[in-house]
Amino acid sequence: MSGEPGAIASHELPRTPLPEAQAALRRDKIKIATISLCGCWGCNLSILDCDERILGLLDKVTITRSSFTDIKRIPERCAVGLVEGGVANEENIETLAHFRENCDILISVGACAVWGGVPSLRNTLPLADVLREAYVDSVTAVAGAPAIVPAHPDLPRLTVKVFPCHEVVHMDYFLPGCPPSGDAVFTVLDDLASGRPVDLPTSLTKFD
Ligand code: SF4
Repeated sequence: MSGEPGAIASHELPRTPLPEAQAALRRDKIKIATISLCGCWGCNLSILDCDERILGLLDKVTITRSSFTDIKRIPERCAVGLVEGGVANEENIETLAHFRENCDILISVGACAVWGGVPSLRNTLPLADVLREAYVDSVTAVAGAPAIVPAHPDLPRLTVKVFPCHEVVHMDYFLPGCPPSGDAVFTVLDDLASGRPVDLPTSLTKFD
């Protein structure tokens, strides 16, 4: 062990053991991670739309990396990863690959993750034209102000088009909707957390 003589590495620090019943409960819980790629966060809000049912769900799941916990990376392997949004830049690719690597089951949640959604409207034009329209020829451009397309090493580079998640990594399930309802999100999570096969009624995935 490195460091000061007699020093204890942080992972060796003694911990107060949990009462057995509480420890068993924690052992049996499945771990879940969520992420928003190129989306509007509406699908993430559908998780909150489970309303008070989320309290019962939290007896069965532990949410690790998510926008709610503000943990950036997945701290330990998860049973389920929920992905909102499509892939529109290099950071999205890296984040989605991180989720694929660390989640047993990966779910595309919502139209943007499933097929690109609204952001993929830009796929009908070359990227250079999209940037010019947004930053140079924009109707909201201030007359006389310099027209600059943002470019900085700290900014993730845009991909040439917006990709649905399954065109970048393998996805196990697809939950359609813009956004999927809280009922649909709850049904999927409750099935997975209870060890049942996912059984989503058509009434929760049909929109016309
Ligand atoms: Fe937002 Fe709809 Fe895309 Fe979900 S599917 S991230 S609600 S635009």
